[in-house]
Amino acid sequence: KLDVSPAVGPRPRPEADASDSGVQVVVRIRPPCSVEGEEAPGSCLCKTSTNSVAIQGQSFTFDAVADAASTQEDFFTLVGPPLVENCLSGLNSSIFTYGQTGSGKTYTMWGPLSAISGDSMACERGLAPRVFEHLFSRIKQEQGKHKDKELICSCTCSFLEIYNEQITDLLDPMQKNLQIREDVKTACVYVESLTKESVFTMKDVNQLLVKGLANRRTGSTSANADSSRSHCVFTCVVKSESKNLGDGSNIIRMSRMNLVDLAGSERQKLTHAAGNRLKEAGNINRSLSALGNLINILAEISQSGKQWQHVPYRNSKLTFLLQESLGGNAMLAMICTVSPSESCKSETLSTLRFAQRAKAVKHRTVVNEEKEDDVNALHVQTKLLQDNIADAA
Ligand code: ADP
Ligand code: MG
Repeated sequence: KLDVSPAVGPRPRPEADASDSGVQVVVRIRPPCSVEGEEAPGSCLCKTSTNSVAIQGQSFTFDAVADAASTQEDFFTLVGPPLVENCLSGLNSSIFTYGQTGSGKTYTMWGPLSAISGDSMACERGLAPRVFEHLFSRIKQEQGKHKDKELICSCTCSFLEIYNEQITDLLDPMQKNLQIREDVKTACVYVESLTKESVFTMKDVNQLLVKGLANRRTGSTSANADSSRSHCVFTCVVKSESKNLGDGSNIIRMSRMNLVDLAGSERQKLTHAAGNRLKEAGNINRSLSALGNLINILAEISQSGKQWQHVPYRNSKLTFLLQESLGGNAMLAMICTVSPSESCKSETLSTLRFAQRAKAVKHRTVVNEEKEDDVNALHVQTKLLQDNIADAA
């Protein structure tokens, strides 16, 4: 088992409260469409059951497979509600989208900007806005449920981009090259000076998403004109305080939810990158290959029960920042997006292999909850969280 301290909230309580859970891996096959460099529809893979795909005679099994027929709403239903329930019960969780450029990562995570802002095609809203809709409605539901309890929730969000191994604040793009810090006492990893915004309504959330996504960097490469060369991390810290009006006892839960849209996973040679673009590609590969290495190591630890002296979280900004999600105290869902196109076959295979390794990783999660006795200790943690880390990813 890994001994990694949680990055948010109290340290783990005794073993009995911790549970081992696997990474949830869901594959989404994009419908055939005209993405640059792809020839007319011709599918190289097919969904063979609710949770398996076949490609070139090989079969892969995951937690679920969504194909072209799966709408944004269907897809949310598959992965969104458990994430929200985790969040409300004080568990940290993260969702990643992984896949080659043009396979549908951004569409799946956020959806088109016009859909988020409500200008048109609201049905195309991606996971992020739907997760918050569900979160807000569940909070309301819980608040109305118990007459003898008062439930107070707060949500604080941040949005950052890792590009070229540099962190930019997407809610204030003048803030570039931000540094990752670690609080020695609590083992909290956070981004210094990152903007944190409280959200109360969907309007607040949508505004943050639209603002951040509009500030996201895009670059043209020959692989895809709009290819995104950056990793984007939207983080929300949810704090809920449940006060028993009868005896005055109080339970405080705190959880962190990371929504991570990764840069394209395609190998560098495909992009014919040169000069600065090559440097970017190199760094993007550094973060992604660090992620790949970590997944390999964590899968091996999970399968063999072997202890590693050193898990290399610090090899890249991405893995350092998200170390809690990667084998630490967080539930992790990995959404692997693939194109159905023949011309993408080898990248699709490599995405499915990555997904298969991720499936082998086991996590140890604990509920970040403190009862009245521990409230003082938690207040110190909460203050630290608010002062320093709130939404470090
Ligand atoms: P990525 O972020 O992986 O580079 P995008 O999310 O930008 O890929 O998707 C590439 C194109 O395919 C976009 O035009 C997007 O709208 C479209 N697309 C992706 N997935 C789907 C889907 N499931 N249904 C409909 N269109 C999709
Ligand atoms: Mg994208």
